[in-house]
Amino acid sequence: VVFASGIRKSFGSLDVLKGIDLEVPQGSVACIIGPSGSGKSTFLRCINHLEEINGGVLLVNGDFVGYRLVGDALHELPASAICHRRAEVGMVFQQFNLFPHMTVIENIVEAPIHVRKEPVAEARKFAHELLEQVGLSDKAEVYPRNLSGGQQQRVAIARALAMRPKVMLFDEPTSALDPELVGEVLNVMKELARKGMTMVIVTHEIGFAREVADQLIFMDGGVVVEKGDPNEMIANPKSERTREFLARVR
Ligand code: ATP
Ligand code: MG
Repeated sequence: VVFASGIRKSFGSLDVLKGIDLEVPQGSVACIIGPSGSGKSTFLRCINHLEEINGGVLLVNGDFVGYRLVGDALHELPASAICHRRAEVGMVFQQFNLFPHMTVIENIVEAPIHVRKEPVAEARKFAHELLEQVGLSDKAEVYPRNLSGGQQQRVAIARALAMRPKVMLFDEPTSALDPELVGEVLNVMKELARKGMTMVIVTHEIGFAREVADQLIFMDGGVVVEKGDPNEMIANPKSERTREFLARVR
């Protein structure tokens, strides 16, 4: 569950997020679209506390991101606690960022063993289940360089799921892929959605968003210009900026 209200973020004098509101209920999928530089990645990074917000209220699974409520005062969390909380939010990037010197299975069990302190056998067992889920049962002992982009991205998704996150964030997960490999990654994401994972997805795949998203968010210039039911918004955008953008990406 993600709750964001009035989120602001600046880099020096550059105001990147100018008051973002978003609610993603448990088990629902929000897709974010918008032009380059509109702040989509920055917003995702705030949810995962890879960026510190400058204003607003941001809750993930009921906890203030980066803070703990003591009485009615917010106390900044120590790094160890932030690490712990971040583990509850899985993130998948455009570039798959797999560890090149590790096999697929080693990539997947790394964080569960070292961050979640899971027993090795248990972590490996779960990793094999996840590989099956993403359709790569036969690739456990392979190195990333011997996989296609679509396969690497599916490993990256399995690796994020290995931390047993309550929320998954995707930042343009198919943008770096050859067109023929996009579908296999989207299918894994659709399956995750069907199983009830709470997801926030930045994507240019409008057809996918229409099919999977419970709400579609159009961001431009650091604000949410329009949000709502994907079918309705795509068929009948209220704002001229949304209409222009949709016309360009379709
Ligand atoms: P794209 O579709 O190209 O990925 P985006 O919507 O994800 O774009 P962001 O990456 O969030 O956009 O960037 C929004 C703005 O913030 C851009 O102007 C970018 O240059 C700026 N920005 C992002 N990160 C930083 C940073 N660490 N320091 C300074 N400026 C930054
Ligand atoms: Mg981005």
